[in-house]
Amino acid sequence: MTAIKTTCAYCGVGCGIRATVTGDRQVRIEGDPDHPANRGKLCSKGTHLGETVGLEGRLLTPMIGKRRASWDKALDLVAKRFRDTIAQHGPDSVAFYVSGQLLTEDYYLANKLMKGFIGSANIDTNSRLCMSSAVAGHTRAFGEDIVPATYEDIDAADLIVLVGSNTAWCHPIIYQRIRARCDAGAKLVVIDPRRTETAEQADLHLALRPGSDVALMNGALAWARAAGVVDADFLTASVTTPEDFWTTLDEGSDLWSVAKTCDVAPADLRRFYELFAATPRTVTLFSQGINQSTTGTDQVNAILNLHLATGRIGKPGAAPFSITGQPNAMGGREVGGLASTLAAHMDFAPENRARVQRFWAAPTIAPKPGLKAVDLFRELGQGRIKALWIMATNPAVSMPDAGAVREALAACPFVVVSDVIAETDSSAHAHVRLPAAAWGEKDGTVTNSDRTISRQRALFPPPGDAKPDWWIIKEVGRRMGWKTAFAYDRPAEIWREHCRLSHYENDGSRLFALPGQSSAGNADYDAMQPFRWGGTPFADGHFPTADGRARLVTVTQKPLPAPLRDWPLTLNTGRYRDHWHTMTRTGLAPKLARHREEPLVEVHPDDATRLNLTDGGLARVGTPQGTSLYRVSVSTGQRPGELFVPIHWTDRTATGGRTGLLPRPLTDPYSGQPGFKRTPASIAAV
Ligand code: SF4
Repeated sequence: MTAIKTTCAYCGVGCGIRATVTGDRQVRIEGDPDHPANRGKLCSKGTHLGETVGLEGRLLTPMIGKRRASWDKALDLVAKRFRDTIAQHGPDSVAFYVSGQLLTEDYYLANKLMKGFIGSANIDTNSRLCMSSAVAGHTRAFGEDIVPATYEDIDAADLIVLVGSNTAWCHPIIYQRIRARCDAGAKLVVIDPRRTETAEQADLHLALRPGSDVALMNGALAWARAAGVVDADFLTASVTTPEDFWTTLDEGSDLWSVAKTCDVAPADLRRFYELFAATPRTVTLFSQGINQSTTGTDQVNAILNLHLATGRIGKPGAAPFSITGQPNAMGGREVGGLASTLAAHMDFAPENRARVQRFWAAPTIAPKPGLKAVDLFRELGQGRIKALWIMATNPAVSMPDAGAVREALAACPFVVVSDVIAETDSSAHAHVRLPAAAWGEKDGTVTNSDRTISRQRALFPPPGDAKPDWWIIKEVGRRMGWKTAFAYDRPAEIWREHCRLSHYENDGSRLFALPGQSSAGNADYDAMQPFRWGGTPFADGHFPTADGRARLVTVTQKPLPAPLRDWPLTLNTGRYRDHWHTMTRTGLAPKLARHREEPLVEVHPDDATRLNLTDGGLARVGTPQGTSLYRVSVSTGQRPGELFVPIHWTDRTATGGRTGLLPRPLTDPYSGQPGFKRTPASIAAV
């Protein structure tokens, strides 16, 4: 039995797997020792992937309403309804809502169909909920959405700062790498309102007030400047500094003011600032605690400012590092699968639109950015989107104000859901359901958090009538009338086209093998080895802006709102270690369910006493958007006045824990990312 090299289905760490098929829908999973992301290691979720490849709950045939249908009939109906809707109401009356679970080839085709052929940019993705603030922050600072760090930078760092990230649970293999570096002498600082498993093992934990990250990072830069570690030569040569930057930064950035704003001990803050100032090789990793905020982009830029101003970028062990949640969030970014980008990192400038339209030989091209996720579902609810195709995601659970999203789906004249799972909270509202091939059944590429591109490979043939997403999209495109533009027989052809549009193919200078490999393997799609495009970003001090210079962005701490009378607490949301999204896969592995069997609301002991909550009792959490039931866990890891709940449970998995009902649909003004981390809330025992 030969092991097949593929990658994990879950998070953005992008671990390599050696999968050996041992029987009918049976597979042995091992970490791939040759993959540079994990070097043979796997976390609990990856280890138990083999338990999740059964057919329980699978959608195996196309369905029109409650009836089985042939592919021809279902695809013809989808193409006709989209064509008719566009003819009657225009291209902006339709939308796609896609997913970081899609492979790059799937993402590329969905983007091409919507932006080049339908002529709208109404394609957004659940990655909007995950890392779009990092995208907007990178673009403001660097001119393009480029992650300027790799996992090898962690191996070279002397100080590792984790901001808004429970890495030990959410990116376990990155965390093992961090621990190995700490064992060799590096220091670890964790900045997070909660004392998570990650924070417990840090040299220093700053349990800051939620939403005060800009103040904390601006204070770090003011301290660094006073300590003389701002890199004046680098700023002069490579960075544009707005006139008001330093004067604005200095306002309220003294140690005592920042400590008060952030509600942390001045001595702890000073220790962090001194460590940062004294350690040139610093990597700052940030995740959802930064991104999922109504001030997420400013928070990202406060971190990028700190690294740019101290010249800690483009050098080994010195970089800001956005770590992504999903296996292919980065692949989606590369093809332009967000409503706010056109294709291949290009925006909607006239010359880009002309170039992409020419390349695709497309009849039209989207004239402007489309609707971002929260706006998309709001317009769906207002009746302006009249046909929606949801691919590989479950917005009726995962969007903020999920109750309103459900109502919008129920009222939409035509909803298509292509998914692996037969019954989801979203597909309950679908007029047509299309069976998609799952992990282990499809072929393509994914890009992980450090820009390593790897192959996912099929282990089994798709069951029943299931088909890969790229095949479903190209069939709809062909049936809408664009036969030549969507004439693909295999994903390798789509990959090649993506590379040509991105200027990558035939540009060997930008193709890099990874440590431990003798060559980069993109020449042969089938034998492709993990690789990266491009060397160390910004190592030459050149940035992809018009003048080649990066930009410091003036950002100020927004006032933090006083508690509301009826919702005096602050609700935070996040992942558990052994579950993934809405548990459609991890729910199939009994060993994973044991880690946390039900959704808990974590409450500080003082709040529990004051509100008569008992550990193990039930409580109802309420917000201005809705309510849901949880079991209480009294925990000193919470700050007083703050609650934490997990995101995974749905109507189909529990009577409570419907976290999506609780957050408000408020978004960051630059990125459109919703703020999941700070919702006014109440709690009462039941
Ligand atoms: Fe999979 Fe992420 Fe775990 Fe790696 S760290 S095995 S990619 S879930």
